[in-house]
Amino acid sequence: MKILLLGSGGREHALAWKIAQSAKCSKLFIAPGNAGTAEVGENIAIGVNEFDRLKDFTIKEKVDMVVVGPEDPLVNGIYDAFKEDARTATIPVIGPSKAGAVLEGSKDFAKAFMKRHGIPTAAYETFDGTTIEEGMRFLETLKAPYVLKADGLAAGKGVLILPTLEEAKHELREMLGGMFGNASAKVVIEEFLSGIECSVFVLTDGSHYQILPEAKDYKRIGEHDTGLNTGGMGSVTPVPFATTEWMKKVEDRIIRPTVEGLKAENIDYKGFIFFGLINVEGEPMVIEYNCRMGDPETESVMLRLKSDLVDLFEGVAEGNLNDRKVEFDSRSAVCVMLVSGGYPEKYAKGYPITGIENVTDSVVFHSGTALKDGNIVTAGGRVIAVSSYGSNKEEALSKSFDAAQKIDFKDKYFRRDIGQDL
Ligand code: ATP
Repeated sequence: MKILLLGSGGREHALAWKIAQSAKCSKLFIAPGNAGTAEVGENIAIGVNEFDRLKDFTIKEKVDMVVVGPEDPLVNGIYDAFKEDARTATIPVIGPSKAGAVLEGSKDFAKAFMKRHGIPTAAYETFDGTTIEEGMRFLETLKAPYVLKADGLAAGKGVLILPTLEEAKHELREMLGGMFGNASAKVVIEEFLSGIECSVFVLTDGSHYQILPEAKDYKRIGEHDTGLNTGGMGSVTPVPFATTEWMKKVEDRIIRPTVEGLKAENIDYKGFIFFGLINVEGEPMVIEYNCRMGDPETESVMLRLKSDLVDLFEGVAEGNLNDRKVEFDSRSAVCVMLVSGGYPEKYAKGYPITGIENVTDSVVFHSGTALKDGNIVTAGGRVIAVSSYGSNKEEALSKSFDAAQKIDFKDKYFRRDIGQDL
């Protein structure tokens, strides 16, 4: 089978690494890919939102399946663009339709969906430019801290958690006044939940689902969760509090009602669902949905997936995912992200990366890298994800930290406390 994978981050390198291991994959293309994906497949210089060029390419190369890594093309309707074109209508696209991607693309939609289907989540209300005063009054009914969320995609920056009512009121006005452009034309205000977060991943064919290994990610740039939010500085799987009993609650109260809810609402959804959960005194609640895998969770989760990922994708395409086998590796897996100094604010690019060849006990996934005159150079904030197995998380972490020392580039930074809170 010829497969085209879309994206260019560490998540896509990890997916490409796993797809390339499948005997069912005869050829793997990645559009646009990075220096790492070029090692396991062939990079194609087409952007993830260039739907016409992607369709032409799949026809010309007789691609049998398209796998979508990031949310952007999903929210922009890549699934529908393929389905609506007679030339590509029968090529399976692994990822939801535009209507399904709204679970991530609109927080107001996601909250209303959860309410309709009785899925546990924080109490909330949504406001727009015409209901600012109602929003102010709703804030007065809540306790600090205050959670304000831009309705639309805002590159991971659209959520503000504010310590005082005054700040919350000020920021509500700013957000509805266009702080995040159209993304904050509507703002969700919700109750603050206190607990540890955990990401749970599911693959669904629209009727059946398979649960993948869960993971915890580390979002802040500074150790002990300080400083600015990033795309993610590391991840650990399994998560100790996600016991069989807790995961049963997640499946019964959250996963099944979500998949059944999508079906009941006639939303075409064949792909990954990422459940951003929080453990509130032993009870799982949903913080957010994403319509794709997480990054950097994929870089640890793929290590623990023993099953053939392409076989699972076939199950998604054929609607018989329930007949496919999902097996996990019982070992721990972790990912430590090496980032450019200055990230997530201003940072320089183009520095040579050395030492990757000296890493023997970890899997190196490229995130923001590029090839320049045959050398691998930094090309983004998050540069390299170093993933490792271990009989426990400590062993896996010590391998990743060891590898993190061997790989070098100017102003390299990584968090040394990944997994310490678990
Ligand atoms: P991401 O970058 O993960 O996609 P996002 O911008 O889509 O994030 P959310 O995941 O909804 O936004 O929120 C970002 C973070 O804010 C969460 O991971 C969580 O730490 C915190 N958060 C969001 N909602 C709440 C809440 N109700 N109570 C406590 N913390 C919250």
